[in-house]
Amino acid sequence: MIAADLAHETDFGGWRDAARALAMAGIAPEAVTWRLPGHGGDLFDVRSLTDLPPPGDAPRLSVPKDFIATAERVICHRDPARFARLYRLLWRQQRERHLLANAADDDVAWAQACDKAIRRDRHKMHAFVRFRKVGERTDLSHTTREQFAAWFEPEHRITELAAPFFQRRFANMDWAIVTPEKTAIWDGETLSFAPGGTRADVPDEDAVEDQWRTYFASIFNPARLKTKAMTAEMPKKYWRNLPEASLIPELINSAQMRTRAMEETAVSSPGKLARIVAKRPEETADIRAAAKSLDAAAKAVQHCTRCPLYHNASQAVFGEGPRDAPLMIVGEQPGDQEDIAGKPFVGPAGQLLDKALGEAGIDRDAAYVTNAVKHFKFEQRGRRRQHAKPSASEIDHCNVWIEIERKLIKPRVIVMLGATAARGIMGKTMKIGENRGRSIALEDEASGLITVHPSYLLRLRGGEAEKQAEYQRFVTDLSMARDWLGRLAA
Ligand code: URA
Repeated sequence: MIAADLAHETDFGGWRDAARALAMAGIAPEAVTWRLPGHGGDLFDVRSLTDLPPPGDAPRLSVPKDFIATAERVICHRDPARFARLYRLLWRQQRERHLLANAADDDVAWAQACDKAIRRDRHKMHAFVRFRKVGERTDLSHTTREQFAAWFEPEHRITELAAPFFQRRFANMDWAIVTPEKTAIWDGETLSFAPGGTRADVPDEDAVEDQWRTYFASIFNPARLKTKAMTAEMPKKYWRNLPEASLIPELINSAQMRTRAMEETAVSSPGKLARIVAKRPEETADIRAAAKSLDAAAKAVQHCTRCPLYHNASQAVFGEGPRDAPLMIVGEQPGDQEDIAGKPFVGPAGQLLDKALGEAGIDRDAAYVTNAVKHFKFEQRGRRRQHAKPSASEIDHCNVWIEIERKLIKPRVIVMLGATAARGIMGKTMKIGENRGRSIALEDEASGLITVHPSYLLRLRGGEAEKQAEYQRFVTDLSMARDWLGRLAA
């Protein structure tokens, strides 16, 4: 028997290193015992990993990336056999090609079920953690930082897995999430983990709770009330931590009355489109047909799951501007600041756009400004959310929204800022160099104009003169759109 010693219950790094060494040394799963600190000793003679022969010419392991990501989650499951079963899966994958595609296989089905349980638990933690204010502190730059704490009891050992989400969402406050086994702590600089605690470590109530109650009451939709589903989704065990839970009985009682009131106003309600998007996001034709107003679309896009970008973004950012704007300006996707503000072009690219529009004689407030992709796509780099380019498939999945905006606004001129915007409007890849600065006849009788994206100008590296020349070209392109609009108005 070989013993693989792990440092703690969720020691994924330890498992991965040991599993790799064991597999390369050809040690079968039955010959391995996985041990945690404090294990009660072994019945058999065991050798340790250091007794294994060096890998020498052993063939390299081939392990799909997805499997590693799944293993990292499954390690958080409470199943005591998880280390052994994951190693057996790794071992078998070296011998059975396409093993992971066989959902009927016992080991594969087990891993999928554990992974599902972990994802669900993580989702619940993301949704049901409620912070209570515990104090304030002044940091080294003399900024006052508010401090919050929350108590949460996950089913599995997911605190480390779930914590980065809170780091992203609540980067500007200090917080601690106390769970029975681990406490996650964020101080604005570092995410760290300490031993767990108890409910008594977190104060019972504070003013923030009122805000949660108000929020919950405002989003509570009685027409969708399914008490069974609600208790499955929000199990009663979490209710004690949720300030808004005290409202639930009363809201349920008044649900029928409110449903009736909602039905009476249903004709003008934006709910139908939102319901289709939430329940049948793939039904593009139905979404298009049900989109009768921009307000309804702006509300419904918040339910959009047509591509994976909704996962990490804070919210969808819909277009804004007059309902009858003759000019539509289309960008790529919201950036970091737009994702938080919920408005297009409010960050650095937006400021440059505003300046150039001003110089071209275009009043931004008279234009409808939007993006080809409504959710922010980014890669987390330390504390920074770095912009990532949307794929063609993400642009195409999002296309229904810009079609709706076009159909309802009926702009006469559409300015496309960069390649993503051009694909969003034209439905195909357009080379900027070849198509820039000329009138393109669009299906809805609007004139299209392709130009560069302001971020491209911000990223330019060359000398000042070169940058200035590129900026002037951008202003010239925009001036062309202004001239077309002037001619249409004449
Ligand atoms: N870049 C875009 O394309 N759109 C925005 O809204 C912001 C930055």
